[in-house]
Amino acid sequence: MGGTPELKLYNTLTREKSVFKPIDAENVRMYVCGPTVYDYAHIGNARPVIVFDVLFRLLRHVYGESHVTYARNITDVDDKINARALRDYPGLPLNDAIRAVTEKTETQFLDDAKALGSLEPTVQPRATDNIAQMIEIIERLIARGHAYQASGEVLFDTKSMAEYGQLSKRNLDEQQAGARVAVDAHKKNPGDFVLWKLSDENEPGWESPWGRGRPGWHIECSAMSGRYLGDVFDIHGGGLDLIFPHHENELAQSRCAHGTDVMANVWMHNGFLQVEGRKMSKSEGNFVTIYELLHTETFAGRQWPGEVLRLAMLMTHYREPIDFSVKRLEEAERLLAKWPAAEPGDAKPDETVLNALADDLNTVAAVQALHALAHSGNDAVFAASAALLGVLPKKTEIDEAVAAEIDARVKARLELLKAKNFAEADKIRDTLAAEGIQLKDGKDPATGERVTTWEVKK
Ligand code: AMP
Ligand code: ZN
Repeated sequence: MGGTPELKLYNTLTREKSVFKPIDAENVRMYVCGPTVYDYAHIGNARPVIVFDVLFRLLRHVYGESHVTYARNITDVDDKINARALRDYPGLPLNDAIRAVTEKTETQFLDDAKALGSLEPTVQPRATDNIAQMIEIIERLIARGHAYQASGEVLFDTKSMAEYGQLSKRNLDEQQAGARVAVDAHKKNPGDFVLWKLSDENEPGWESPWGRGRPGWHIECSAMSGRYLGDVFDIHGGGLDLIFPHHENELAQSRCAHGTDVMANVWMHNGFLQVEGRKMSKSEGNFVTIYELLHTETFAGRQWPGEVLRLAMLMTHYREPIDFSVKRLEEAERLLAKWPAAEPGDAKPDETVLNALADDLNTVAAVQALHALAHSGNDAVFAASAALLGVLPKKTEIDEAVAAEIDARVKARLELLKAKNFAEADKIRDTLAAEGIQLKDGKDPATGERVTTWEVKK
């Protein structure tokens, strides 16, 4: 870890920022709850994608690329998916309709994540590929006295776990008070939640010891994290809204099934992206999709490049709320325009940027440091540092035909120089400069001959 500062992370479980110590530095393991694939992701959903991608990049930098496993699931079984399938594909058999919805939405999500500059997680398990693992965990929970069958459901018995509520810091009595109106008669306790429920013939289902049915949402993540990261792993992440009930319930299921003291050592939650003070969400109806921002003129009458969306997001600390506005996007765009497009080569990231990120992902300070670095003239160090944030400005792409044409003019100028026709040679150089192409003259060290390279001026 030479030269790398201690990594400090805020842990929702302890409500404290503390030094991160991996269980195994050779295999640092992080799980982040991914999308339920029934509709386009909105720009609020992009926040955990980007935030945890920065953490993934930082962990890879600190522990080595091959020593970090990042799992982000795809939830492809959910009643919202069924409803969408029936609405959008009324003529198809249900299973085919469901597949049409989930495949289309998953592909779109992966395209969005890529356009936002995110690396692919190490594994991206789908819920429907892990039904057997879910059944196994539910069987264990029943065997250990933490779950029971009632009215066509298998439910988790929240009273069976003394520490239930430890993540959200709710106690059962509070939950009881909150849930009084909607107490389901078949539940032992109002907070008990579904692990498995029976499906009728019009609903997707899998055979299980409790009949043909489908899993509850929370059990999916316990099964997939357990399968790919183990019973206990390092970091579990997601948005603030997942603390309760989703993460509380995942934690309860995993701990009770495996008999462990913890599920993940560190729980991290990003704040909300909001519009005029309200959380952006489908239910509020105040959302704009990532797709619309990238590819249509829906938002402020223009398209917004992925790197602008990403930088705009990182200009606020991940635990703070973000107000999504045109002003913020324009600010990010102005910054990016001033940054050099360069290759990191072997350069190491700047220490100020690294220290900022190591302090609970202080991307605000990191962006400031990066901006200072952009004018330092050390483009390689800038690029290595920008890569940690995943906001490397793109080199202006030139199409091959144009590049060949520029090469030809550069060559013609070299011929003119050889012939000592300096006036004509300078004319070519000046015309190219006016077109934004800068020439650099040098000597081939081997032959001593004059060589000229060119680049697009920023
Ligand atoms: P969902 O599809 O609603 O389960 O959300 C997928 C991920 O996006 C979860 O980690 C949510 O916590 C997160 N998320 C949803 N809405 C927002 C928002 N407005 N701001 C930030 N994160 C959000
Ligand atoms: Zn989850």
